[in-house]
Amino acid sequence: MPLSPWTAHHIEHCEQQTGLKILSDEHSLGLFSVDFGGLAYSKPAAVFSPPTTQALQHVITYADENCLPVTVRANGLSQSGQSLPIAGGLTLRMNLFDAVHEQNDSFIWVDANASWSALLAATLKESRVPFVTPYNLNLSIAGLISVGGVGAASFKHGVAASHVHALEVATANGEIQQVDATSPLFRACLGGQGQFGVITKVAVQLRPCGRQVRTFFLSYTDREQWLKDLAVFKHHADFIEAFCSPALAGAKVTATGRQPFAEWLFSLQVSFEYDSLPPELTNFGNDIKPWKVSHCQDETMESYLFRHEPRIQAMKTSGQWELQHPWYECLVTHDVVVSELDYLLRSLPLYFATMVHLVPISGRQPAGFFMGPGHADFFSVMILNPGVPHALVPGCLEAIRKMDERLLAKGGKRYLSGFLGSDLSPNYWAAHFGTDYTAWSTLKRRYDPKGIFCSILCNHNMTEE
Ligand SMILES: Cc1cc2nc3c(=O)[nH]c(=O)nc-3n(C[C@H](O)[C@H](O)[C@H](O)COP(=O)(O)OP(=O)(O)OC[C@H]3O[C@@H](n4cnc5c(N)ncnc54)[C@H](O)[C@@H]3O)c2cc1C
Repeated sequence: MPLSPWTAHHIEHCEQQTGLKILSDEHSLGLFSVDFGGLAYSKPAAVFSPPTTQALQHVITYADENCLPVTVRANGLSQSGQSLPIAGGLTLRMNLFDAVHEQNDSFIWVDANASWSALLAATLKESRVPFVTPYNLNLSIAGLISVGGVGAASFKHGVAASHVHALEVATANGEIQQVDATSPLFRACLGGQGQFGVITKVAVQLRPCGRQVRTFFLSYTDREQWLKDLAVFKHHADFIEAFCSPALAGAKVTATGRQPFAEWLFSLQVSFEYDSLPPELTNFGNDIKPWKVSHCQDETMESYLFRHEPRIQAMKTSGQWELQHPWYECLVTHDVVVSELDYLLRSLPLYFATMVHLVPISGRQPAGFFMGPGHADFFSVMILNPGVPHALVPGCLEAIRKMDERLLAKGGKRYLSGFLGSDLSPNYWAAHFGTDYTAWSTLKRRYDPKGIFCSILCNHNMTEE
């Protein structure tokens, strides 16, 4: 069904109905025209921050009755227009849904836009944590589970979207539903990119946790040994981070001029929870053979979970936060890592691949429309540079295009928060969802038949078969 743009008349009508201001001044619209990636641009016709569920319902119902496009935005930290509206669209900014509610031993209710750090402030007091927390704890809970949610515990527990007990969702007709794993709407919203409804509350599952965390920082020059040790630690550790860092080796003469190149070092940070007795590295047998044990440290669980906060603050204070972020994550099998990693490390421009992260992920738990490469265990190959200046963006986008060409051809699936490209082919989504595409389209028609929930990355046209 064709959508119509929001007009001054629509905005005025909604303001009268809700008694609340809808922003349509140039300054406000400008603020919500970009996302963290800084690569996509789309100015909304209006921005509304509902303070209550009732106000949210009013605006959605009005949009649905009048076929007006709505884009749900948490903190806009995705990078490919996932939270940017199509022309004439309204941005539904969820920032006022930020409360943390009641908890019991196995789950906690939070508002959609509460941060993972606010959730942890409540649960750590009870020695409880979610099964998976992201590296950046300032992300919104609903924004993360609408994509998947990858973290250092993903090798064990999969993605954060797999550990949701229940959701409260406002559907396009303005109805509020509380749904759990028995409902197709629940499945649709997990990894659903804001396409099926607006999540207003989330019940996040919790587990008991140790008070302390010991981390071994291991360095490798041998890629195979690094992957072997990683596989061993997957049976023992509570958290794992793995990444490759370049050591500049010089600048080679190439057909396109001198190009810096590097030797790569491979790192593992393996962490173990404990209350009184921390583990020793020798507990894991003689097969563990790092080039160096670079460091070992003990800290509280809270200190461990917030370990990336200083890096994120540094990005903000140094101005890197304002740069463009052509981020790349692709979910691939172990075999693809083995066959492709050397090539990627040799060929990626170093201004783009300042580091290459490799996140092991368990795909054993259902996670809605989060799509992996179809194996029980896989990896996310991630390039999350701190930000690149404008002049270097084209080289980064070309690198992303080439990586997609190689990795998607081998069954890789893009993680849907990164930069996917500015001109996706008409069959991109059918290829991404594969056999789940029919279910995606059917559920879209069921819960949002007029296709009001859309973004510049993902609009209702994608559901046409
Ligand atoms: C510094 C940094 C660190 C990051 N670290 C991690 C990490 O450790 N692990 C990881 O998995 N990802 C990470 N990401 C990426 C992150 O997953 C995405 O940015 C993610 O979508 C959450 O961002 P957000 O909360 O701002 O949501 P947005 O970018 O605003 O929205 C993301 C998607 O969710 C939808 N959405 C948002 N709120 C709702 C709602 N209430 N109801 C329905 N749909 C909704 C939007 O429409 C959009 O499609 C990181 C990003 C940054 C910038």
